[in-house]
Amino acid sequence: MSDPVVREFLLGFWKIHILHHAEEQGVYGQWMLEELQRHGYRLSPGTLYPLLSRMARRGWLRATEPKRSRDARVYRITPAGAEVLKRLRASLAELQHEVGPRPSRASRPSARMSKSRRS
Ligand SMILES: [Zn+2]
Repeated sequence: MSDPVVREFLLGFWKIHILHHAEEQGVYGQWMLEELQRHGYRLSPGTLYPLLSRMARRGWLRATEPKRSRDARVYRITPAGAEVLKRLRASLAELQHEVGPRPSRASRPSARMSKSRRS
């Protein structure tokens, strides 16, 4: 994990993604690795598993120990984690509003204004 962009930003994105799916249906390591890969992120288990246990230590996820030792440990969101996710959703919406995809040239207010002045 030497990529500074990963360290400074993407780790946070992945944690939000984990909280989201932990709230929806619960996650386990292999599933989450595949889900993040589907979104274009190739994480190693050595990156993901410490993330999951750190989030559990912070009280945002609760791990369910598998009945059989070979089964996966499932992480579900806790009430504290749901509270964090709620806060992050508000921050995300705010950030998305400010820095999200730029409108195309034609639909920018300035472009619209100059167009309407011409007509
Ligand atoms: Zn997802």
